[in-house]
Amino acid sequence: AKENGKNKAVFCSSELKAAQNRETALSNDLYQAIEQGQLSLHYQPQVDGRTGEIVGLEALARWDHPQLGLISPGVFIPIAEKNGLINELGDWVLREACRQNKAWEMMGLGPMRISVNFSMVQFMAAGIVPRIAAVIQEFDLKPKTLVVEITESINVYDFTQIDQTVQDLKKLGVAISIDDFGTEYSSLDRLKNLPVDEIKIDKRFIDGLPKDVSSIGIIRAIIALAEIFDLELVAEGVETEEQLEFLLAAGCRVIQGYYFYPPLSAEAVGDLLRTIHEQ
Ligand code: C2E
Ligand code: CA
Ligand code: CA
Ligand code: CA
Repeated sequence: AKENGKNKAVFCSSELKAAQNRETALSNDLYQAIEQGQLSLHYQPQVDGRTGEIVGLEALARWDHPQLGLISPGVFIPIAEKNGLINELGDWVLREACRQNKAWEMMGLGPMRISVNFSMVQFMAAGIVPRIAAVIQEFDLKPKTLVVEITESINVYDFTQIDQTVQDLKKLGVAISIDDFGTEYSSLDRLKNLPVDEIKIDKRFIDGLPKDVSSIGIIRAIIALAEIFDLELVAEGVETEEQLEFLLAAGCRVIQGYYFYPPLSAEAVGDLLRTIHEQ
C-alpha cells in the first residue's frame, strides 16, 4: 500500500481486512483493560515560558496492552468512542487524575491545576456534570484545579446541549479549555457567548514556526482573540527554542511541549515537583 499522508493511505482489500481485524481485537481487549489495570495516566507539564515555572499538567491516557505493549490514545480513544466504552474510560481517567492530584496535595506538592481530556461523546452523555461534581467532592478538591478540555468538531451535533453543559460546569467552578482551537469548527460568535476559560493552540500551527507565513498569521489571530475574550492561552507541541522565542514575543506565555517536558509518569512528576519545592 502507498501512504500519501494521513487520510489517504491506499489499502488493498486484504490489508483493509487485517486492519479491521486488529481493530476488532483491540476493541474486545479494551473491555478488560480498565478492570485489569492496564490503563494509566501520564502528565505533561505546562510551563510559564519566561520563568520555567510549572503552572499546570495535562493528563494523558496510556494503555499498556499485555501482548502488544503501549498503545497510543490516538488509537484507542476512537475505538472506545465507537464501542461505547468511552464513558467508562473517561470516568476512570477523571477519577484517577483527581485521586492523583489529591495524593500530590497530601504530599505537600499541590494542589496542581490538572487538565483532563473529554471526548465529545463523553461530554454529551447524560449526567456528565453531576458525575464531575461527585468526583471533585469525593477527593475534596477545589473545583478550579480541574480543567475540562474539549475539542469542538465539525460533526457536532447539538450546540444547545454543549452550551448548557459548559454553563453548568462553569457554575460548578471548574475551568473549561478548548483544545486544538482553530483546527475544526469554532465559531467566533459561539466563543463570544460561551464562558470558556482557555484555548489551546494546536501543534500543527506551532510546527510552522518560526517561518511559515500562514501558521504565523493563524497564531497571531488566536493570540489576539484570547486577548479580546480574556482567555488563557496554551501553546501545544512546542519543541524548539525558536518556537518558544516566537511565542513569547507574540504574547503567548504558557507552553506545553517536548522543549520543556514530555508526558511523564505520576512518579516522575512527583519527583519533579519535589525537586522544585526543595529549591
Ligand atoms: P491532545 O489532547 O491534543 O494531546 C496532546 C498530544 O500531543 C499528546 O499526545 C502529547 O503527548 C503530544 N505532545 C505534546 N507535546 C508534544 C511535542 O512537543 N511534540 C510532539 N510530537 N508531541 C507532543 P498523546 O498523549 O498521544 O495523545 C493523543 C490524543 O489522544 C490527545 O491529543 C487527546 O486528544 C487524546 N487523549 C489522550 N488522553 C485522553 C483521555 O484521557 N481522554 C480522551 N477523551 N482523549 C485523550
Ligand atoms: Ca488535550
Ligand atoms: Ca491538542
Ligand atoms: Ca522516584
